[in-house]
Amino acid sequence: MLIDGHGRKVNYLRISVTERCNFRCQYCMPEKPFSWVPRENLLSFEELFSFVRVAIDEGVDKIRITGGEPLLREDLDRFIQMIHDHKPDIDLALTTNGYLLANVAERLKDAGLKRINISIDTLKPDVAAKIAQKDVLSKVLEGVEKALEVGLKVKVNMVPLKGINEDEIIDVMEYAKARGMTIRYIEYMENVHAKNGLQGLNGKEILAKVKEKYTIQKVGREGSSPAFHYLTDDGYKFGLIDPHKHDFCESCNRIRLTAEGFLIPCLYFDEAMSIRDAVKAGNIEAASEILREVLRNKPEKNRWSEENAEESTRAFYETGG
Ligand code: SAM
Ligand code: SF4
Repeated sequence: MLIDGHGRKVNYLRISVTERCNFRCQYCMPEKPFSWVPRENLLSFEELFSFVRVAIDEGVDKIRITGGEPLLREDLDRFIQMIHDHKPDIDLALTTNGYLLANVAERLKDAGLKRINISIDTLKPDVAAKIAQKDVLSKVLEGVEKALEVGLKVKVNMVPLKGINEDEIIDVMEYAKARGMTIRYIEYMENVHAKNGLQGLNGKEILAKVKEKYTIQKVGREGSSPAFHYLTDDGYKFGLIDPHKHDFCESCNRIRLTAEGFLIPCLYFDEAMSIRDAVKAGNIEAASEILREVLRNKPEKNRWSEENAEESTRAFYETGG
């Protein structure tokens, strides 16, 4: 079992398989970065898997593949299959913008993928084009339908932004509800890579919008989920991810691995250690020791909850959010 320096059990590994993306979301990657990580610096699926196996054998039972846009990485189903074959009952999930999903949903499911989170910030084509800086909505919605059709469990992620999509908080919820999907609203997290002047709605403001139509009651945090759950008066459960709240980090159970091999203990911290040399050399013991060291140094809480917190310098497209 993996325990961090604050006594929290860590059983969840998020893997960013690429920092590249086919969208330019205002809150994440509004401009193409000055340079991408050269392809030769990316760990291969075999190298990533050699670390994943260590993590699973030490107690990780939940893995999420993310990015950048993970579906830009060719043959992602091959990586999913490797993980599935090692531990078929693992909770194996993917976060995607959905743009390339329709064509590969079935292959991903067949390879062992169980769950998928799709980012849907709006149902209006022009607003989607404004947020992602590309005409994306119809392909994303096609991806959602296909994922549901092949039997994947789907959740929707929405980041409500002032003056952009705040009037769609209920519409996106009802779109999700009509298809049996859970929605999770994510508070915009300030970071230096986002577009200047962007303002998110805080948790209270998001809930106030929901309350314009529904009466809601608190359900609470479930297990180590970062989302606080609520129930509407018509029995629909939704989540709110509010990293600005002080209790958000108390049950944090996750670490992140980037495509280059950096192990990152917290989204809002610069500290990271590389497993790259260890896995390239096939030195599993060294990789395992680095994992333990990162856990020992995992911070108690992120800095978004501090008074006058500065923007994070970590790019969401690098860490996978
Ligand atoms: N490209 C995929 C996608 O968009 O779903 C996966 C990677 S993306 C970095 C993962 C999640 O992070 C998405 O749900 C996205 O909305 C969220 N995200 C990115 N930047 C964010 C920010 N500044 N604040 C809050 N959430 C953010
Ligand atoms: Fe790409 Fe996802 Fe970031 Fe949007 S949120 S730019 S889709 S990585």
